[in-house]
Amino acid sequence: MHEFSVRTKRRIEMIDITSTVTDAVRESGTERGIAVVFVPHTTAAVTINENADPDVPVDILGKLAELAPERAAWRHVEGNSDAHVKSTLVGASATVIVEGGRLVLGTWQSVFFCEFDGPRSRRVYVTVIPA
Ligand code: ZN
Repeated sequence: MHEFSVRTKRRIEMIDITSTVTDAVRESGTERGIAVVFVPHTTAAVTINENADPDVPVDILGKLAELAPERAAWRHVEGNSDAHVKSTLVGASATVIVEGGRLVLGTWQSVFFCEFDGPRSRRVYVTVIPA
């Protein structure tokens, strides 16, 4: 398993981690299989989406803010229930096919780390299951 850190700068943001995930896959030496990208946090997530138009992450984060507003009648005493809900909606893991030692992603796809309660130092785990 490979592990790396992501230093987030805002409370809510999406950070393209594709190159770091690609490095982890290369270091694994696995030519063919499935890469699992896992975020061990309850107020962050990982997803795959468009990397070309920067308005796409803005729209995604905007819709998540509508669905789970920061200020609402939440019960959780920590005051970050919106971040927990966003984390569950987006998910803690993503899988990508590995072929020829490379991630098989569409032209416009990137792997994004999603911060919902930053800024913080976060961890990302990557493991490759050979096939
Ligand atoms: Zn909390």
